Amino acid sequence: MKNFLLKFILIALIFSIGGIEVFAISSYKVPILVYHSFGPARSKKESSMQLHYRVTTNAFEKQMKYLSDNGYHPISFSNYVNSLKNNMALPDKAVVLTFDDGWKSQYQYAVPILEKYHFTATFFVVSSYVGGRSYMGWNDLKDLIAHNFEIGSHTKTHEMLTKISSEKLISELKESKKILEKKLNIKITALAYPYYAQNISVRDAAKSILYAGARGGWKKFENSLDHIYKLKAQEVVNNPNPFKSDRLPDLP
Ligand SMILES: [Zn+2]
Repeated sequence: MKNFLLKFILIALIFSIGGIEVFAISSYKVPILVYHSFGPARSKKESSMQLHYRVTTNAFEKQMKYLSDNGYHPISFSNYVNSLKNNMALPDKAVVLTFDDGWKSQYQYAVPILEKYHFTATFFVVSSYVGGRSYMGWNDLKDLIAHNFEIGSHTKTHEMLTKISSEKLISELKESKKILEKKLNIKITALAYPYYAQNISVRDAAKSILYAGARGGWKKFENSLDHIYKLKAQEVVNNPNPFKSDRLPDLP
C-alpha cells in the first residue's frame, strides 16, 4: 500500500513537471507590433498626431537592437497566421513587425535598419495611396518583395470598415487585394483593418474574400486560432523607450 502511494506520488510529480514544461512552451504570446512613419527628428510642420506616430530612426535602431540582443525572431504576418492555422512550430521568441499605410519614410528609414538585422516584416499598404506624396511607389513595393518582405492589404481607401455599407466594405477589401496582386504579381493574403475597426460582418467579408488572416484588435498579445481575423497587436509610437513604457507592455 505504501509502495503504491509512493508510486502514485512519483507519477503525479512527473506529470505535473511535464505539464509545467508544456505550459511554459505554449504560454509564449507572439507579439505583433505596429509602426507608422519614421523620421530623423521633429520637423516644425508636423502636427501633434504625426509627431505621436512618428518613430525616430534612432529609437527604431535601438528597438531592433533590443529584439536582436534578446533573441527575438521576426516572422511575417502570414507566417504567424499559417502557424496558428496549421499548428506549426515557430522560431523561439517569434515576433511580427508590421508597418501601416505605406509611408515612404518606412522605406527610407526603417528598411535599412531591418536589413541590417536581417529582420523580415509585413507592410500593410493602402492601394489607392501607392505612388502618392509621402507614400511608397510600386517600384518601392517590388523592391521590398525582392528583399523578402511581405506586402499585405490595408484596404483600398482606409475607411473605417464598421461604418460603411456592405457593398463598400466588399469593394474596400476586394479591390485592394486585386490591385495589389495585379501590380505586384503576388498573392495577397494578409489584411490589416484601418483604425483596428472590425466586427463580425467585417471578419466574414475578409474570410469570404480569401484573406488568410487579419490584424484587428490591439493592446494585448493574446492570439490563437479563434483570433485569426482579429489578431491583436500593439502600436509602437514616439516614445524613447517603448518596451518599458505604459503604452506598450514588456514583451514576453
Ligand atoms: Zn492605417
